[in-house]
Amino acid sequence: MRVLVTGGAGYIGSHTLLELMAQGHEVCVLDNYSNATPEVLTRVRTLSNGQVTDFTGDVRDANKLDEVMQAFQPDAVIHFAGLKAVGESTEKPLLYYDVNVAGTLSLLHAMDRAGCKKIIFSSSATVYGDPVYLPYDEAHPTNPTSVYGQTKLAAEKMLTAWTSAQPGTTAVLLRYFNPVGAHASTRLGEDPKDVPNNLMPFIAQVAVGKREALTVFGEDYDTPDGTGKRDYIHVVDLARAHVAALNYAVDHEGARPFNIGTGDSYSVRDMVAAFERASGRTIPTKLAGRRAGDIAEMQANASRAQTEMGWKATHTLDDMTASTWAWQAANPNGYINTD
Ligand code: NAD
Ligand code: UDP
Repeated sequence: MRVLVTGGAGYIGSHTLLELMAQGHEVCVLDNYSNATPEVLTRVRTLSNGQVTDFTGDVRDANKLDEVMQAFQPDAVIHFAGLKAVGESTEKPLLYYDVNVAGTLSLLHAMDRAGCKKIIFSSSATVYGDPVYLPYDEAHPTNPTSVYGQTKLAAEKMLTAWTSAQPGTTAVLLRYFNPVGAHASTRLGEDPKDVPNNLMPFIAQVAVGKREALTVFGEDYDTPDGTGKRDYIHVVDLARAHVAALNYAVDHEGARPFNIGTGDSYSVRDMVAAFERASGRTIPTKLAGRRAGDIAEMQANASRAQTEMGWKATHTLDDMTASTWAWQAANPNGYINTD
């Protein structure tokens, strides 16, 4: 298929490009580089030995979208382009609604104009909010506790209404749990621009000597060691879920949410121990209070993705930490000044 990948230069998008090309799909990227660098696509081209058409532009720019649609004529769109920092979304709610909701609206209008009927959407487990039960299945009530989560849920609802109104359209809503890890080549990985918000890139920067210690946010949760537990998913497994979703979209109509996780969950202490095993380095930690908005535990029931899309995560926790460490050690400054 011809697949337009918005946000394709980002962390998850770049890994997905490689998996798409490995399965024979043709890809085109639209990215505004607000959280990425063109160096990523250079590396994707080298690794795949393939062609990546790319456009620089914003998903909220209707003219740019028409230009891309006309030039590339996609059969489907994978929509990664968006903002993802929970804390920032509270400070800049209108920006988050603009990029994540109005950006998706703008893309749907452009798809309608071009007659493109299939979209795979980057949603998030954060749409569920405080667990009524665990593991979350897709029928769990949605009640996001952050502006970021609200924007993902609003986009999901818009996509669902779009498919209801137009027979022949498909929206696959992938609710990611906690993506971590890096490509086995060590050439692609997560490269946060500022101080990392997320646990894994922070631990990696401590291990490589860029930061002194990990701050553990709370040791008084109702979990075995008192620290928060999450369902971490290797980014390559996540990338492959998008290929499975495309195949699913070929012969399904309507909107359907899928949890994309492993079904296992690990605490902050588990992650530190696993990273110490992978890196052979000690990760100093210091304790702080709970981070606002955090919950004790999150875990996916990912059986729907397996039953209906034939997708299942295969990477282990040690694969996640080892690949993160290999990426961080080979690219201590991320994509900048490493070659
Ligand atoms: P990322 O920031 O690495 O990638 C997003 C890409 O989109 C970047 O390349 C950025 O430059 C681009 N972009 C942002 N705004 C744009 C705009 N207006 N127009 C065009 N391009 C734009 O993030 P990621 O981790 O790869 O996440 C991809 C998607 O998955 C996001 O929508 C995010 O909300 C969602 N998601 C991520 C996580 C996570 O923990 N990483 C979890 C759940 C959902
Ligand atoms: N966490 C932590 N220190 C950090 C970053 C995160 O202790 O510097 C904890 C956080 O409280 C949560 C877990 O690690 O229990 C995963 O947090 P992350 O931000 O990676 O993911 P999310 O909160 O989105 O699930």
